[in-house]
Amino acid sequence: MLDERRLAILVESAKYDVSCSSSGSKRQNTVGGLGNACFGGICHSFSPDGRCISLLKILLSNNCIYNCEYCLNRRSNSIPRATATPDEICALVTEFYKRNYIEGLFLSSAVVKTPDYTMELLFETVKKLRTEYHFNGYVHLKGIPGADRLLIERAGFFADRISFNIERPSETSLKLLAPQKNKDAIIAPMKMLALDKYYDTQLKRRKDFLPAGQTTQMVVGASPESDAHILKLTEYMYQNYKLKRVYYSSYVPTNFETSLLPYEQVPLIREHRLYQADWLLRFYGFTADEITGNDGNLSLEYDPKCAWAIRNLGLFPVEVNTASPEMLLRVPGIGVKSAYRIIQARKYAKLDFADLKRLRVVLKRAVHFITCKGKFIGNKNEYDIQNVMIAAETAENAEQLSMFGAESSKISALTGEL
Ligand code: SF4
Repeated sequence: MLDERRLAILVESAKYDVSCSSSGSKRQNTVGGLGNACFGGICHSFSPDGRCISLLKILLSNNCIYNCEYCLNRRSNSIPRATATPDEICALVTEFYKRNYIEGLFLSSAVVKTPDYTMELLFETVKKLRTEYHFNGYVHLKGIPGADRLLIERAGFFADRISFNIERPSETSLKLLAPQKNKDAIIAPMKMLALDKYYDTQLKRRKDFLPAGQTTQMVVGASPESDAHILKLTEYMYQNYKLKRVYYSSYVPTNFETSLLPYEQVPLIREHRLYQADWLLRFYGFTADEITGNDGNLSLEYDPKCAWAIRNLGLFPVEVNTASPEMLLRVPGIGVKSAYRIIQARKYAKLDFADLKRLRVVLKRAVHFITCKGKFIGNKNEYDIQNVMIAAETAENAEQLSMFGAESSKISALTGEL
C-alpha cells in the first residue's frame, strides 16, 4: 500500500496539471464492478477558473529523467522523489472511491527511465484498474510523448480520456525550455488519437476507445507568445485533432535558478480571458483572428466578446427581433442559451427590453448593442461603453467573491455564457 509520505509527494508533484475535465464519458457500472463515469453517476465540478475537482490527481512517479526548466519535477531540482506501483495506485483509487473521497482518477507521470517504460506502467495501471479491480469510474491518463504508438493505443481502450500536453505555445519555446522534448513527439499521438477509425459511425461517437476524447494543456506566460498566437494554435488543434478541450495554465514560477523564465507569476486573469476566448471559438462562431486586438493580446479589463463588439461598433446596434442567430451570439450579454430563447420567443411576439430581462439577457451589457422594436437605450460613445463594461466586470467580480452573488454571475462563471 502506498504510504503517506509517497502519497504526499506524488499528489504534490501533480498539482500544476489542470487537464482534468471528465465531460463526455459514458462508461457505466457493471454487476460486481465499482464506479460509474456516466453523467449521472460521476460528480465533477469546476471552480470559476475552469479547474475540475473530485478526481484523484496523482503522478505514478515524479522521478524524471528530463530537465524541463519550468517544472518542479525536473531532474536537477532537489526535491523528495517517489514512485508508486500500478497495484498501489489501483488499491488507492478503489479505497478512496469506496470512502466517497473521489469519483475518478487523473493519472500522470514524470518520465521514468524511458518514455516507453513509463507509458507501459501507465497502461498497466489502467488495465489492472479495469480488469482486476473492476473500477468503472472515470480515468484520465496523461500520455507520454515519444512512447510507442501501440502502447498509447492500447491504453486508449481502457482510459476514458488521454491528454498530451502541448506545454509551450511554440516550438522555439519548447526547444529552449524543454530541450529533451520535441513538437513532433507531442503532435504525432494527438493526430493518432483523432483518427476516424476510433469513431463508431452509427453511434456517431467513440464507443470503446477513449469515450471522453483527448485534451491538451498549455502553460501561458512562461514564454513570450501572444494571446493571438495561443488562440490560433488552439483553433488549429480543435479543427485538426478533435480535442474536447484546451486547458490554459497561468505560469507559476518554480525555478528561480534560471534566467530563461520570468520570476513573476502570470496573473490568473490572463488565463481566465483565454478560457472566455476559447468559449467564443467553440460555441459562438468566432475565429481566432477576430478575437484579439491589434496588439495581439486579450483585454484584461473586460471579456473578449465585449472587446470585439467595441472594436466593431459599426456593426451595431442590431434589432433583436430580426437579427440572425449568428449576430445575436455576437452581442455582449446574450449567451448561447439566451440567444436560443430569443429565437424561440420572437416567433410569437415582438420582444421588448422587459422580455429580454425575463429571457436572462444581461441587459447592462447588451443595451449598448441592440434595439428592441427600434428603440435604443444604451450608450453610443465608445469610451462610455468601455467604462460601463469595466464597471460591470468589477461589480461582477465582487459579486462572485460573495457566496450570495447575483445568480447571473454565478451561472456565467460555471457555464462560460458571455
Ligand atoms: S518531462 Fe518535463 S514536464 Fe514532465 S515531469 Fe519531467 S521535467 Fe516535468
